Amino acid sequence: MSGNAARRKAIEGIASQTWTTPSLDKSDKIEDLYGINVFSLDKMESRLPKDIFKNLKNVIENGGKLNDEAAEVVASSMKDWALAHGATHYAHVFYPLTGLTAEKHDSFYEPSGSRMLASFSGKTLIQGEPDASSFPNGGLRATFEARGYTVWDITSPAFIVEGINGSTLCIPTAFVSWKGEALDKKTPLLRSMQALNRQAQRILKLFGHESPGFIAATAGPEQEYFLIDSRLYHLRPDLYTCGRTLYGARPARGQEFEDQYFGTIPDRVLAYMMEVEREAFKLGIPLKTRHNEVAPGQYEVAPIFETANVAHDHQQLTMTILQKVARKHGLVCLLAEKPFAGVNGSGKHVNWSLGGAKVGNLLDPGETPHDNAQFLTFATAVIRAVDIHQGVLRAFVASAGNDHRLGANEAPPAILSIYLGEQLARVFEQIKESGSATSAQKGGTLQVGVDTLPTLSKDAGDRNRTSPFAFTGNKFEFRAVGSAFSIAGPLFLLNTIIADSIEFIANSLETVTKGDPKQLNSALQKLLQEILTEHGRIIFDENGYSEEWAIEAKSRGLKNLKTTPEALPEVTAKTTVEVFKRQSVLTERELESREELTYECYINTVRTESKLMLEIGRTQIYPAALRYINELALARSHTAANGITSNDGVLEKVSTLQKDFAKSLDELEEQREKFTGNPHTKALHAKNNLLPAMQKARALADSLEELVADDHWPLPSYQELLILR
Ligand code: ADP
Ligand code: MG
Repeated sequence: MSGNAARRKAIEGIASQTWTTPSLDKSDKIEDLYGINVFSLDKMESRLPKDIFKNLKNVIENGGKLNDEAAEVVASSMKDWALAHGATHYAHVFYPLTGLTAEKHDSFYEPSGSRMLASFSGKTLIQGEPDASSFPNGGLRATFEARGYTVWDITSPAFIVEGINGSTLCIPTAFVSWKGEALDKKTPLLRSMQALNRQAQRILKLFGHESPGFIAATAGPEQEYFLIDSRLYHLRPDLYTCGRTLYGARPARGQEFEDQYFGTIPDRVLAYMMEVEREAFKLGIPLKTRHNEVAPGQYEVAPIFETANVAHDHQQLTMTILQKVARKHGLVCLLAEKPFAGVNGSGKHVNWSLGGAKVGNLLDPGETPHDNAQFLTFATAVIRAVDIHQGVLRAFVASAGNDHRLGANEAPPAILSIYLGEQLARVFEQIKESGSATSAQKGGTLQVGVDTLPTLSKDAGDRNRTSPFAFTGNKFEFRAVGSAFSIAGPLFLLNTIIADSIEFIANSLETVTKGDPKQLNSALQKLLQEILTEHGRIIFDENGYSEEWAIEAKSRGLKNLKTTPEALPEVTAKTTVEVFKRQSVLTERELESREELTYECYINTVRTESKLMLEIGRTQIYPAALRYINELALARSHTAANGITSNDGVLEKVSTLQKDFAKSLDELEEQREKFTGNPHTKALHAKNNLLPAMQKARALADSLEELVADDHWPLPSYQELLILR
């Protein structure tokens, strides 16, 4: 079948809607479905002896370790529950540095005499040893020390994943080397939550809370994605190999009508979303929001926030569900940051706050001056942290995919800044000025702990989509995270740097007040003022896309790390190493391994993409153009033979483009052979030479696409991919 015949067949299929929508059993009520596949606290309570449950609950809520005897009982009860739900295997699920989810399955069953018996011990529940020597670890685990252990994360509930032919009990775990080094993304996340709790307790104590309970980071990730018909997808090697298009002329209709955002969700897509929700509900994932996004074919899903660790595990599962369910509906879910040039890319807004059951959300301004003062203290800690660590914040969201998005006039710019909203920005301005007599005379100052804040409206119309880090009423929203990212990295970074800022504030306040609560307000006034004077430059409430901002940011001394190779050295910069060490979250070696791995990933991505560009260019696009040139030439000789001149210039245009395109591919190939030196130099080569060469080849191919007769063109067009559903 020639390329175009395949395209036509796919389109015919879509037009006649031969896809069958798996329909849900409407009698399944959400309240009955929710959490049925989760070994939740409720289930444990009804199944475990009282004392063991109490012990377990205490460990989950306040940290610590479960004793061996209790683990044995929990394991046995978990096994019985899993078997009753049809599970035959169990798996320690872990989160390697790739950002993906990994699992190794083992059967519950072992032969005993002539029978098969199911067993599951406390030891197996607590610790596993996957043969994981081939997981990328950035040099942390040489083969002679290849052993790695998975360790049960008691704070994230076990769950059952239903497969078509059977089910598996999944146990969330942390993955560490035998030396105790973190080989994964969960270990630092758990460590960072401990750090945040430790420091937050000190501030709460100063504010008179006797036993505030565990203070947890909370997270609510909004996930953007594209849905593409799978028949067209399979005609695009760039999509199924790299997750994004490497060629493709701009469609006649992109997103300029701005009619997609929050528009009516097409039936086929809605059917898909509902099944995604059902699957998520069974796993106790509290999905809440679904809607169309800005680009055609783009959508978003968001859950209700949870403690950061659980939110992370649920986010990983959500990405899996989004992709799995799509296949059932004849669709493909693209999670890449920039699948299509010229229309918006996809991000993952990570909403972050901290709080606990007793004290509530600590980033909620509150009603009394006392609550306000506490809120301002935590909010100021965030401002200080983001200013000091702006570089590594950019580095932690760096990838080849996200580079296409950050700063491309749609997503937040690569410059980190904080948007506070007009009201809160005024409040901080007033605190900053409270020391200066002139402004005090204007009556524009605010006495922390005495004055009440104006009620901050959460849904003020002044949302700023251009800001990479925005205060949205009672939480901060980190918008620069890429759609394909694990949220663990951004989360443990935020926890760590904010814990460190809280520690700085606690140190200072404890020293100044010497335990006298009457000193708190004045100490706070002075300290917050100092911090805001030093770090207020990070606050920016205007258009982050404008060129003026880049200039202004530079004069403020803010970093503008546009690409991954420019940002990555921040991962092991002195300030980063120190903050991770102070908060006991990652050692220098552990940070180095992460930096190395991100370089590798960046280089491999660009290498793969460029190889595929050559392949598609030479074996699909070039031949299509050549056939068309022959056709044009033939037509011209026929018409000339009949005495008609038909020199309209098309043949010349196509021929010239064709030659230039072939040349650009040769140049690209040359650049591909020039990788030398250390990872940083290699990454710079990819950015400075390879990506521009890819750009050039692409531009020529896209011009060809606009000229070559459609019945020769092998690749489904942007129009077909984005609009047909
Ligand atoms: P937007 O208006 O930006 O789309 P939403 O109001 O839909 O945002 O909420 C975005 C996300 O923020 C949701 O996942 C929500 O649960 C989460 N969120 C709300 N409160 C908190 C909090 N205290 N901590 C973390 N995330 C939160
Ligand atoms: Mg948002």
